[in-house]
Amino acid sequence: MKKVISIPLLRNAKASGTYPYFIPLDENEGTEVIYHGRHIIMCGSNNYLGLTTHPKVKAAALDAIERYGTSCTGSRFLNGNMSLHEDLEAELADWVGKEAALVFSTGMQVNLGTISSLVNRGDIVILDKEDHASIVDGAFLSGGKIERYRHNDIDHLKRVLASLPEDKGKLLVVDGLFSMEGDIAPLPDIVPLCKKYGVRLMVDDAHAMGVLGGGRGTAAQFGLTDDVDLIMSTFSKSFASLGGFIAGESDVVDYIKHHARSLIFSASIPPANTAAAMAALQVMREEPERIERVNQIGDKMRKEYKNMGFDTGDSVTQVIPIIIGDDERTFLTWRMLFDNGVFVNPVISPAVSPGRQLLRTSYMATHTDEQLERVLDIFHKVGKELQLI
Ligand code: PMP
Repeated sequence: MKKVISIPLLRNAKASGTYPYFIPLDENEGTEVIYHGRHIIMCGSNNYLGLTTHPKVKAAALDAIERYGTSCTGSRFLNGNMSLHEDLEAELADWVGKEAALVFSTGMQVNLGTISSLVNRGDIVILDKEDHASIVDGAFLSGGKIERYRHNDIDHLKRVLASLPEDKGKLLVVDGLFSMEGDIAPLPDIVPLCKKYGVRLMVDDAHAMGVLGGGRGTAAQFGLTDDVDLIMSTFSKSFASLGGFIAGESDVVDYIKHHARSLIFSASIPPANTAAAMAALQVMREEPERIERVNQIGDKMRKEYKNMGFDTGDSVTQVIPIIIGDDERTFLTWRMLFDNGVFVNPVISPAVSPGRQLLRTSYMATHTDEQLERVLDIFHKVGKELQLI
């Protein structure tokens, strides 16, 4: 299994004051966070619709604690299942346009449980090389054979699929919106290939749900909801909570429900998180202007960064990488941005391929125009100082 950071790099970063991980924030009100008394504009959160502080979402969580207490203290399989969970499943299935949905306690658990229950030894899982770690871990856990294709490279995918035995069970799992570089899986190319080669398709929409396709995700964006077998998402991003779900045909979801070990052998999502996700979904329905706003902000910021001369890779969404291309320089740029009042996420090798080290910036519907202007000014200043632009 890959390490997230090499030990010598970690030691050097700590020694030079550029260690950028596990930053203990004192307060987090969404678009601004407080660190040692300093206000910092948050441009590294996945709170895409800004709903963690929405009055209806907070009230729903508080009310759920009052009514149901703080925990279900058990697995959904036994004592930890509530009608609250099942109500949320019905709403989610309707939102994404599938027959049924199943709620887990985290998105990581969705991917571990779904992939490992559907894929058996002798089957094949096909992954994009940039798929999220939870997909990769789910594939390893399944015991199936793993085949990888180069990131978003359809010709390579074709060659990989053509080389596979016809009689094996096959599942292709792909991020809808790639979390580090903000590009999108070309589902209109992937779907016909899956059909041609008898491959089932699962899309991880952790970063697309609430943003693409009117908030309904990547398949909806392309009008391909019926052609994607399974849609997964998490509650830890646009849903302003913690948890996750898988949606698909009722029979398949029921099969996962009775086979996913990460669901059966782990306690269920607490009432407050369930109610918060439900309220967030309601807000998505009632306030579609938030979905529009986060997309507009993504377009604006990408254009501005490009005009300044930054490399934003293939991003077309609210996740915008600033590609730096070197570990130490990425940490140094992070540090200068942080000291000047902007929080971003440094992503280095091996999490990204060598040469693609980057600062991951991401935006919320609730960022004000003034905050965004300040962020751009600071990026411009730091970019010039470090001769990145
Ligand atoms: N899939 C993707 C693409 C993700 O980015 C993440 C979390 N960062 C997950 C799955 C796991 O979600 P969770 O945080 O709910 O465990």
